[in-house]
Amino acid sequence: MVINSTLFSVRMHASRDQRHLSGAEDLVLGTEVGSAAQTMLRRAWTHLPQSVSVTIDQVDAAALVTGRLSDLTLASVVDVAAGRQRALSELQKSGVSLLAANRALVAIAAGAAPDGGVMRGAMLVDAGSGERLEPDQSRGVRVTRFGVTSATKVDCERLLAAHALTHHRTREALVLSAKVLAAPAVIAELCWSDDPDYTAGYVASKSGGYLRIPQLKNMGDSRGGRAFFLAAGSDPASAIHFLEQTPFLVTTIGAVHREEP
Ligand code: AMP
Repeated sequence: MVINSTLFSVRMHASRDQRHLSGAEDLVLGTEVGSAAQTMLRRAWTHLPQSVSVTIDQVDAAALVTGRLSDLTLASVVDVAAGRQRALSELQKSGVSLLAANRALVAIAAGAAPDGGVMRGAMLVDAGSGERLEPDQSRGVRVTRFGVTSATKVDCERLLAAHALTHHRTREALVLSAKVLAAPAVIAELCWSDDPDYTAGYVASKSGGYLRIPQLKNMGDSRGGRAFFLAAGSDPASAIHFLEQTPFLVTTIGAVHREEP
């Protein structure tokens, strides 16, 4: 079984003029490191980068945590306003206060970094007070050292394709959010992409699974971001350590449901 074998974290980051262009992340067997790095480099090259780094680290097998993808629900909304309203009510259902949900949503919509730009990582938000808890508000907290077994990747792609979800972002966001929801104190996540051509985003929570919302921003908008909500009053240190350091491997897929329009 793969979990008894040595695993490596492979990470790619492409940039131009110090600006983030593209990133990717996987956790693979030694024999798969070359092809994983090559796939990432191919992706980086489509963004005309000035600088690309690929980092490879053996992971600590004793620290490995395995998990399952959340069940995915495909929401149907008529426009961005309805999409954002749906995100707010889903966050409230998962235990986030309206104040905290709204603060995070407004921050992502405006550009959550101090200069109004896009953060490299995620905000950490107290689910009660809405206070931001990440130590660096430009960088945020980066989730790394996660991946999915090759067999589960194939199953996941097949299941998503049956629902016409063929963009690599959907699978990658599902895997990232599985790790986020496994972190201590995290109760929910809000995300939409900074890619101006990609308007979908999601709310994921321990209680409600992963709700994909097709419109969380308008086409052409290059603002996006992530907020991880921590149970009110939690200390963020152990969540940060888990998100950044603990290797996390998805070994099982979830189900997919489509809501009627
Ligand atoms: P993306 O879906 O890749 O466009 O990412 C949307 C936003 O999520 C980015 O602008 C970052 O703020 C944040 N983000 C991307 N990757 C990560 C990560 N590995 N960990 C935490 N936040 C991330």
